[in-house]
Amino acid sequence: MSAEFSSPTLSRGPRGLMLEGVALADIAARFGTPTYVYSRAALVAAFDAYRHALDGRPALVCCAVKANSNLGVLSVFAALGAGFDIVSGGELARVLAAGGRADRVVFSGAGKSRAEIRQALRAGIHCFNVESAAELDRLDALAAEAGTAAPVALRVNPDVDPRTHPYISTGLKRNKFGVAFSEALPLYRRAAALPHLRVRGIACHIGSQLLDSAPVVEAAGKVLALVDQLAAEGIRLDHIDLGGGLGIRYRDETPPTVAAYLAPLLELFGERPEELCFEPGRSLTGNAGLLLTRIEYLKPGEEKNFAIVDAAMNDLARPALYDAWHDVAAVVARDLPPRRYDIVGPICESGDFLARERNLAVEEGDLLALLSAGAYGMSMSSNYNSRPRAAEVIVDGEAAHLVRERETVESLYALERPLAQG
Ligand SMILES: *Cc1c(COP(=O)(O)O)cnc(C)c1O
Repeated sequence: MSAEFSSPTLSRGPRGLMLEGVALADIAARFGTPTYVYSRAALVAAFDAYRHALDGRPALVCCAVKANSNLGVLSVFAALGAGFDIVSGGELARVLAAGGRADRVVFSGAGKSRAEIRQALRAGIHCFNVESAAELDRLDALAAEAGTAAPVALRVNPDVDPRTHPYISTGLKRNKFGVAFSEALPLYRRAAALPHLRVRGIACHIGSQLLDSAPVVEAAGKVLALVDQLAAEGIRLDHIDLGGGLGIRYRDETPPTVAAYLAPLLELFGERPEELCFEPGRSLTGNAGLLLTRIEYLKPGEEKNFAIVDAAMNDLARPALYDAWHDVAAVVARDLPPRRYDIVGPICESGDFLARERNLAVEEGDLLALLSAGAYGMSMSSNYNSRPRAAEVIVDGEAAHLVRERETVESLYALERPLAQG
């Protein structure tokens, strides 16, 4: 990779790091830190890559809301005609509040509650991706109650071989997602016989941060064989959902472009008439966002130097949770000899680190940008240690728009009360 940054709209200018036409230093001055900052142009480019690659065939790109559920971000995708992949009633409410279309929503997840199913039936979503026999029965009963028929797909588990694809995490027999391939046929027959279900499609999602399309192609081949077997029995599907999972560059990974990732799938599908759906999350928002934070203290030590920043594992959990690597860039370059730092937050956990052993030329009070933080960043954040969650900003050209205010401390305990005693 030749680009300095994996984020396409990030550059270094005389005023330090710029996202599109806005200096990150100005964002910190105006909105404070820690703040998540997204580039609208990068979000649009990521979505357009899917759109263009699928141009000319029936297709639906459903943004995985769990990767980034900010209304501002969702509204950018909604304006482009996106669909959405949701895993809760809360995410459905967000999609609708952001201007997304219910009839382009697919509902994934193994634990849909009755209330969530009723909410989705009322909204009129595109499809329920059903993950068990018990869910089929529940869905049929609730659709009957609502006087409607629920559109369903079965999420199948193609059991792609982990030895050939060691990074697969959700497509194996032993995990909780989807139904086994061997059970799919009887379940489809059962679904077709239930009066308040409309069998529409099939879905699979085999894992995340995939750096090669081979496992998805393998899974798609199995799915197509099943689709043809179903058709032979008179169960005809009108869409095939291959999930999300395309990886991004955090460090030195070399994921395929969206077009290269989709090419072998498009070849496999040829002239088939079914609508082809994808549920990308990370590849839409990951490299469109960063976490802007300020150094509170520099703490040199005998074995390690620490840069203690105002963001922490509650803001960006991936390093603590998955030992994930995020690039760290000083917002304003200094003419100092670089030193090696661990970037840590103020939380009382030794797991509270954001990055380790990074060479940085920085002073107390300087700003750092943690890159590739647009997916599974803010959406996984918490209030641990009673830390108000970060603000979120979308940059669009020369403009910066606040799309989530920084939380106040009072809001953190607004639903609590002291116990009346004595
Ligand atoms: C998490 C998830 C996605 C998105 O995965 P990415 O790796 O972020 O693209 C899509 N579909 C389902 C069912 C998921 O659980």
